[in-house]
Amino acid sequence: MRLDKFLSHAGFGSRKEVARLIKEKRITVDDKVVKDRNLKVNDNNTVTVDGNIVILEEWIYFLLNKPKGVISSTEEGPTKTVIDIIHHPQSDELFPVGRLDKDTTGFLLITNDGKLSYQLLNPKKDIFKTYKCTLKNPVSESDLVKLETGIPLKEFTTKPAKAEKISDKVVHLSISEGKFHQVKRMFRYLGNEVIELERISFGGMALNSSLNYGEYRRLTEEELEFLK
Ligand code: URA
Repeated sequence: MRLDKFLSHAGFGSRKEVARLIKEKRITVDDKVVKDRNLKVNDNNTVTVDGNIVILEEWIYFLLNKPKGVISSTEEGPTKTVIDIIHHPQSDELFPVGRLDKDTTGFLLITNDGKLSYQLLNPKKDIFKTYKCTLKNPVSESDLVKLETGIPLKEFTTKPAKAEKISDKVVHLSISEGKFHQVKRMFRYLGNEVIELERISFGGMALNSSLNYGEYRRLTEEELEFLK
């Protein structure tokens, strides 16, 4: 990425302010004083400001508890995205692993690791995601059987799922696919309506209660190993 953008994201002021630091010869890349603000840097370079090293990371992994009202996109636009929530100097490398609807909350991985993302989203891998579905109407035993067996949607029939009734209007539904609005469409087929949707686990990893909506944290080494 461009040096001035990187330093600006790392908290060294606007690009104009970074340009001034460059002019004042306060920035080095690999021990050479930088003159060109358009210079590109990557994690093999050592960047310093006033002699202090600014770290560039190769692989970045965050777990976000997605709040309502933000979109799972990387595109800059009028609507806040999940990437706008993450404060990181390399935020323009980051993307969400899959998508949650704007009004869905919960577990969302944010990374710059395309390979891991591909593996986790590969339908052949049958990675289960569990959603807490709060419904408008009570769910029946036969609905649960249908959810588990497969629901014929317009372009496909859903794969076998797991449906656990938590209360009359709350179901934990685990699915291994992630088609557009899938959970909402599955309940719509049953004549019901999802009024709150929260992803509570992904690939066997639960969103524990330590993260409030909109909060995020780094994945631990163990969690990363588990997901890989
Ligand atoms: N299914 C949906 O309908 N919406 C989501 O955000 C995720 C799964």
